Amino acid sequence: MQNIEFLTPKVENYKVVPETITSGYIHSVESCGTVDGPGIRFLIFTSGCPLRCLYCSNPDCRYLENGKKVSVDELVTEIKKYTSYMKASGGGVTISGGEPLFQPNFIREIFKRCQELGINTALDTSGFCNLESAKAVLDFVDLVLLDIKSFDPATYTKVTSVSIEPTLALAKYLNEINKPTWIRFVLVPGLTDDPNNIAGLADFITTLNNVERVEVLPFHKMGEYKWQELGFEYLLKDTPTPSSQQVQAALDIFRSRGIFAI
Ligand code: SF4
Repeated sequence: MQNIEFLTPKVENYKVVPETITSGYIHSVESCGTVDGPGIRFLIFTSGCPLRCLYCSNPDCRYLENGKKVSVDELVTEIKKYTSYMKASGGGVTISGGEPLFQPNFIREIFKRCQELGINTALDTSGFCNLESAKAVLDFVDLVLLDIKSFDPATYTKVTSVSIEPTLALAKYLNEINKPTWIRFVLVPGLTDDPNNIAGLADFITTLNNVERVEVLPFHKMGEYKWQELGFEYLLKDTPTPSSQQVQAALDIFRSRGIFAI
């Protein structure tokens, strides 16, 4: 059994993770994802997340023990069924969450087995992780989808309940090792849409040579019903989705700095 240290574990009910190299906890899988990396992708949503993002679409992924325990062998058997779709489309396997790096040994083994099968691997992460644990995972990751939920530290903490520092440290490390990375930024009116906040993020990204694109993701409330079902208070219930003009304004800030943003 491996223990994992996370930084600033001040969220409620923080627990040490009982994942292993041969098994871990997942929320669900999807066989034909098309938005979490290139091509058609087999998506694995892990359970367990130390963040508490105000707009989280998967609040049912918070706690590891609410997930389903599965073995790496079971997952790889399932993944193999879709190999032809993935390869023909330039796709692969994406592990998202929850926070996948909450279970680094488990996801490292999945990625390793995928690469042995010639399957492209992508990691969707908040970056809130123990960097040393993450490094071992990244050896088997072809593409990182790094969610930077705000650049202003206070806003980041307001959105997620944790510090931005581990995420920035991971972003800098990904640059150091020249790991292909897509940055994802959720645009939330009245929360993350301050032009100075977006400009700060854009300026930071211009210091990185490994970022292939920025995806501006408009805030939506598709997960709100889950918050209600779980008895959690959804604080963004009165927050509107951003208008197309607001999305365009955010894109313009990135593009004005030569960043490929969509
Ligand atoms: S990192 Fe993702 S899964 Fe975790 S709380 Fe934030 S949005 Fe939800």
